[in-house]
Amino acid sequence: MATIEVRDLTRAYGPVRAVDGISFSVGDGEIFALLGPNGAGKTTTVEILEGYRTRDAGDVSVLGMDPATGGSAYRARIGVVLQSAGFEEEFTVHELVRLQTRLYPRCHDPAELITLVGLDGKSGARVKHLSGGQRRRLDLALGLAGAPELLFLDEPTTGFDPAARHHAWELIAGLRKLGTTILLTTHYLEEAQRLADRVAVMRDGRLIALGTPEELRAGSDLPTVIGFDLPAGVPADGLPTLSARPSVALGRVRVESHDPLADTWRITGWARDRGLGLPDLTVAPPSLEEVYLALTEETAR
Ligand code: ATP
Repeated sequence: MATIEVRDLTRAYGPVRAVDGISFSVGDGEIFALLGPNGAGKTTTVEILEGYRTRDAGDVSVLGMDPATGGSAYRARIGVVLQSAGFEEEFTVHELVRLQTRLYPRCHDPAELITLVGLDGKSGARVKHLSGGQRRRLDLALGLAGAPELLFLDEPTTGFDPAARHHAWELIAGLRKLGTTILLTTHYLEEAQRLADRVAVMRDGRLIALGTPEELRAGSDLPTVIGFDLPAGVPADGLPTLSARPSVALGRVRVESHDPLADTWRITGWARDRGLGLPDLTVAPPSLEEVYLALTEETAR
């Protein structure tokens, strides 16, 4: 059975249909990313799944329970990492994590949790002395305190430096190995591409795309960009005939191709026949970010 099942979920705030009839499911152990521009309805959806917000209509089952009526038995099985949790500033990291673990019948060891999120050196530090990125790690430790079967992660790496972000990605990917199901919301498309098994894109309360990052990329009609440095002595009009007209700027050739395999084949064959090298040949399919931007702009129009 799926960990999360949502059918025809709706929720309005007065005239605003924040969630407008969405359906999706998240499998056991899956990392599922909910994407969408500001105001798309992600937070409302996630809060309904967490049991913190009521729904107007639709069926919701999470871990086999209805979050609206699951109460403390339900909350003991989930972990929630919010964007900006308020902390008791005078506590030390270890004190706060230990207090949090005591709230759960089933919990992680506080010291292990602190190690897991990379806050070893800060165990005895007061919360008020932590940096922004260190606070986010503490958020993560607190969300994991009850050894949750399902973890809700709201923009988990906002404010992280690149090294800390990579560390967090490894950590989140490691949780998958433990079997934890994760519902992630993020505005970092690279994060979704790296971590998520499947992504759903919301806009104006509706789901406008759902699939693996690869399926979304393959389903888009955006071109693959082939680029290479124009070989010395070759004029711009001396290039082979390709599925799209190449452009040349600052000595670099760029082809927006809808037939990248055939075009790459023609380019490399053309170069080989002339004994030309092709330094810096690149073949870049559309990124999830480009696909996302195209999708959300298209539906906005
Ligand atoms: P963001 O990426 O900015 O966090 P979101 O996708 O999480 O956005 P929601 O917070 O779910 O979006 O908001 C969806 C819509 O519902 C928005 O139009 C928002 O203004 C409206 N909304 C959200 N909460 C309330 C509320 N408590 N009262 C009235 N309107 C609300």
